[in-house]
Amino acid sequence: MAEGKKKPRISREDALELLFALAVSPEAETVPAEDCCGRVLAEDLISPEAVPPFPKSPLDGYALRGEDTADASPGSPVVLRITEEIAAGNAPRKPVLPGEAAKILTGAPIPAGANAVVRFEETQFTAETVTLTAPVRPNTDIVPAGDDLQPGQRFGKRGERITPPTAGMLAAVGRETVRVFRRPRVTVISTGSELTGPGEPLEYGKIRNSSYALLKGYMENAGAEVDTLGIVGDDPDVIAEAMQRALMRSDMVVTTGGVSVGDYDYVLAASEKISARRLFWKVRFRPGGTMLAAEKDGKVILGLSGNPASASLGLHLIGLPFLRALCGQEKKPLARTKARLLTPIKKDSPYGRLVRGRMELADGEVCFRCMDHQGNGALTSLLGCDMIADIPPDTPPLPEGTVIDAYIL
Ligand code: AMP
Ligand code: MG
Repeated sequence: MAEGKKKPRISREDALELLFALAVSPEAETVPAEDCCGRVLAEDLISPEAVPPFPKSPLDGYALRGEDTADASPGSPVVLRITEEIAAGNAPRKPVLPGEAAKILTGAPIPAGANAVVRFEETQFTAETVTLTAPVRPNTDIVPAGDDLQPGQRFGKRGERITPPTAGMLAAVGRETVRVFRRPRVTVISTGSELTGPGEPLEYGKIRNSSYALLKGYMENAGAEVDTLGIVGDDPDVIAEAMQRALMRSDMVVTTGGVSVGDYDYVLAASEKISARRLFWKVRFRPGGTMLAAEKDGKVILGLSGNPASASLGLHLIGLPFLRALCGQEKKPLARTKARLLTPIKKDSPYGRLVRGRMELADGEVCFRCMDHQGNGALTSLLGCDMIADIPPDTPPLPEGTVIDAYIL
């Protein structure tokens, strides 16, 4: 269907700005530190203690005083008397005095007096003595206290998504709980009289609802809690009623389908029926830019295309940056990079074009391989898709080797 009167579409930047203005900082909650991966920090993480807490040995060997070995050589070996054995988990019982060494195992504390460790392979030893034929310099092979984290050192920042290393550091400093932002709740409404739910027989002319599972996955990966009110037919009253119910139970509502100007496209009309304020309708990119954003009671209703691939593009470029802000993360658009085409883009792009593809590295360069199938309904075009090429308007067909701009998913 034609776009009607040529009202210019809103830019991606302006669309995001309108949405970001509605993303207030979410409430915080306390969760067990071991269950925090993927959550967004609501506090700065400051180490309360040194990691490691004491100077320790990184290997199995002998802790000694480097100066005792200064003159060691094959012709004049130095023999040190072994005072004790220190295994990981044990505290040293005596200091190392001149002429002495302690047998030490990986992870064990360095005894007082010692200032170096020599690995056992570089010595000759008995139960009582260790013999060196070369000097060991002071400070060799000692991991100082606080080598990894100093007391007071910041290792996480409010608004950052928690990754496994951060979870590991929380454990390393003995934290049992952590303050994170509450996950935003998203309710999806799948509109379309042709849609059939899983498990139902497929009548001729109907299709399965694939967009819901797809979008739910992307939104959950971004940190949201997602569920659905199910499928509703192309009826403005029914869609409006579902929107109203969805708004009551969630922080954001996503609809699929019925958002263009076709005879049975009622999502815009439904949003007007419930007096939602239109933020924008149609963003300047395609496919997928035919989308609606409306606001009701401070909450956003995002109307995406029904086609899985178009809906994903709208979600990635506009929906997910907003959702990440609702999760408490920084308000910022998708990251972009330059990339070299490994496959040509055979069509011209009079209106600009988003092309689904995959990142590959070749000769130290970020490269872009187009997905074979670019149909708006093609779920297969999303398998392994981790980049979206952003081809500007009035671009002719592009040969392999052209450097293009691309979003990184
Ligand atoms: P619409 O956005 O309603 O114009 O739908 C565009 C195309 O996507 C049509 O071919 C629909 O049948 C299809 N479609 C709509 N909703 C879904 C859905 N939830 N899952 C898969 N395809 C859909
Ligand atoms: Mg439809």
